[in-house]
Amino acid sequence: MLIAVPAETQSYEKRVAITPETVKKFKAAGCEIVLEKGAGEAANYPDAAYIEQGARLADGFATTCAEADLILKVRSLNADELTHVKKGVTVASLVNPFGNPLLQAYADAGISCFCMEMVPRISRAQSMDVLSSQANIAGYKSVLLAMEHYQCFFPMLMTAAGTVQPAKVLVMGAGVAGLQAIATARRMGANVEAFDVRAAAKEQVESLGAKFVEVAADADAEDAGGYAKEMDDDYKRRQGELIAEHAAKSDIIITTALIPGRPAPVLITEDMLKAMKPGSVLVDMAVEMGGNCPLSEADSVVVKHGVTLVGITNIPALMATDASSLYARNLFNFITPMLQEDGSLEIDREDEVIDAALLCSDGEFLKPQLLPKGGQS
Ligand code: NAD
Repeated sequence: MLIAVPAETQSYEKRVAITPETVKKFKAAGCEIVLEKGAGEAANYPDAAYIEQGARLADGFATTCAEADLILKVRSLNADELTHVKKGVTVASLVNPFGNPLLQAYADAGISCFCMEMVPRISRAQSMDVLSSQANIAGYKSVLLAMEHYQCFFPMLMTAAGTVQPAKVLVMGAGVAGLQAIATARRMGANVEAFDVRAAAKEQVESLGAKFVEVAADADAEDAGGYAKEMDDDYKRRQGELIAEHAAKSDIIITTALIPGRPAPVLITEDMLKAMKPGSVLVDMAVEMGGNCPLSEADSVVVKHGVTLVGITNIPALMATDASSLYARNLFNFITPMLQEDGSLEIDREDEVIDAALLCSDGEFLKPQLLPKGGQS
């Protein structure tokens, strides 16, 4: 089987879908690898390191992918790239399934497309879970971004000139990214509070040494998949009052709250921002989905009402070396169970992991719920 890995072209994308480590593993599994020249450079994986592990290089997307059986990418194919791939090829990448206008076009092009965000979060598939591997990095880096813009210490310090109080950090949304942000801020010596609509998050937050800010809810806010549901207006009002109180006392706020397929919930309003201390920092990790604070701006750092708002849409790409390493391993772990002894790829739709991630195959779009009404994306 020939695996092609083209360079990423999306703005701010520095990750790569294969590393020298996974080239070696794919080679050992009997695959051939062709890499677009320079594809790993932004993530600090030079061409020579890939060649050393047995990959060969090609110029440009079209040549790299011309004969491929499988294309591995970080970002999904764009409209131009789609015109250069052969019918029947399999592609595995992040797809942004709730905001990608090309979903139907992938089916129409006759490719098989795996959406890595849709790999189910069951125990067997943990090693393939790109959402977790990348959110973990984003959570860690969000704290470093906050530290960079905050002009005070995080830990408490006793100095000859007197005592410095520790920073107060509020983390909103305690999923994978939020929990890593809590752990990182704790390691830096900050006092950390966190809250989440899911009651199950309380124990995890407390086990990291942070305080859980609790809003009493009548119904369970968690759906069958472990994700947050959208809350009713009464809950949102009570939540707003409690957040306002805690936000005003915080030096740093890191927001990670997301609801799959929906705009991000607004948690920090303009009035709450006005009540924060000058010099406070808010890192809005939900900015790509509209933001947990409506004043944050995508791919910008802005100061509003004295608060620095950090709105980076692709935080994992700021740590492209490790982000690529983990993402490439996720892909390897996802692909290898499908590899057959004769070198072909068997897409077994009886397998729940494969079936959940498969968006289209043989010209058919398999997840119609993702398409706007009328069937066209
Ligand atoms: P996510 O990125 O979808 O959302 C981030 C967090 O924001 C979630 O914890 C969510 O509950 C919270 N949130 C949503 N709306 C909110 C609001 N209005 N106020 C406050 N918080 C709000 O979450 P995620 O990190 O992808 O994790 C989602 C779930 O999947 C969690 O239950 C997590 O434990 C679970 N998970 C399971 C596995 C596994 O078993 N393999 C792996 C990773 C995550």
